[in-house]
Amino acid sequence: MLFQDLEPLEMGSVARLFFAFARDPNPNKIDLGIGVYREENGFSPVLESVQRAEQMVFEVQTTKEYLPPSGNAHYCRAIEKLIFGETHKVLSSHRVQSVQTPGGGGALRAALELAKQLAPNTRIWVSAPTWRHHLLVIRAMGLQVKEFPYYDRAQNVLLFDEAIASLEKMRPRDIILIQGCCHNPTGQDLSSDQWDRLVDLVQARSAVPLIDLAYQGFGDGLEQDAYGVRRFAERVPEMFVASTSSKNFGVYRDRAGALSVLLAPNTLNQERLVNNVLRITRGLYFMPPDHGATVVMKILENQELRRLWKEELEGMRQRILTSRVRLSEALNLKTASKDFVYLARQKGMFSLLPLNNVDAEVLESQWGIYMMPGHRINFAALSADKIRYLADAIASVYTPQARLTA
Ligand code: PLP
Repeated sequence: MLFQDLEPLEMGSVARLFFAFARDPNPNKIDLGIGVYREENGFSPVLESVQRAEQMVFEVQTTKEYLPPSGNAHYCRAIEKLIFGETHKVLSSHRVQSVQTPGGGGALRAALELAKQLAPNTRIWVSAPTWRHHLLVIRAMGLQVKEFPYYDRAQNVLLFDEAIASLEKMRPRDIILIQGCCHNPTGQDLSSDQWDRLVDLVQARSAVPLIDLAYQGFGDGLEQDAYGVRRFAERVPEMFVASTSSKNFGVYRDRAGALSVLLAPNTLNQERLVNNVLRITRGLYFMPPDHGATVVMKILENQELRRLWKEELEGMRQRILTSRVRLSEALNLKTASKDFVYLARQKGMFSLLPLNNVDAEVLESQWGIYMMPGHRINFAALSADKIRYLADAIASVYTPQARLTA
């Protein structure tokens, strides 16, 4: 007998939230949990650029034969340009090799597997806090996690000096897993000066950056959000970038992402690298799904669709910004404080609310407001007509002192 030894695990937080929300009869309920973009009507749309590209794919697709395990090569080239910028010297000097992966999650796993293969004692430095899935994957792989201070929940500010002081302890071949923009879950990003200082430190310590770029275009814009990746690429000899089209193309379930690896100048390791990555990914999932990547590639390669997509992405970014400003203003007004100013200056879909677990339970049971553990909310799921309701709810539980027991 095998299955009798199964551990009695609790339902994961995303699944729990999903079912609790579905069961809640409250007509005013709001799901601020899972990280998808929703329109004012609460639905996560298929972008028009995506619909048009899908139509094109259906019209010309004559086979569903296997692609190579590295996936759609045109998608990879188009994504490299999006991430690094058309004219970045690491592209013209052929220092980047990419393979298509099932979303950003697949890329992260493959990158960590390669790091583990090459340096089994490597330590993976992550911000405290970071996306919970990072920790889950790193620990599941038996790799060692090192957390560096990142965010002060009492003051809602970046702990940059503390981060740098901690990262001074990185060893050569340690991996630093950094989010490229729109930090999940804090919404707190680095300024360009801070990126520059971080790059200097990582380079000086001979650590290897693994940049998780999941929200390019949701923060300050497509180019601005790539500042950190591009700066690292200019300076360090080697790095990984795990990118995903899930969010900025809204193709979440289609699982389109890429792992891009930067190789040191003048090495001839391209083929060796790709073969090693593919041995890993074959063992993990054999090959990535094609549809999402082909659709994204069509958009990026077609001038008109690309223009349309950029407009749609900018529309999503603006709506998130507006929600941030509105909720921030409403909460400052309700609490007669400036305690929520930070929501308007943070970036991307997420921020953490200064609440404790009891507050969160009251919000769920009495107001039908659902958020992720740690009190992360998703601004991209918030419609204008719900902002006053949400501000009333949060203000009703918020106490400026003695909070944050969670
Ligand atoms: N990285 C971060 C920070 C994320 O928040 C997510 C998704 O929520 C991902 C990566 C991976 O996204 P996916 O695997 O759905 O492409």
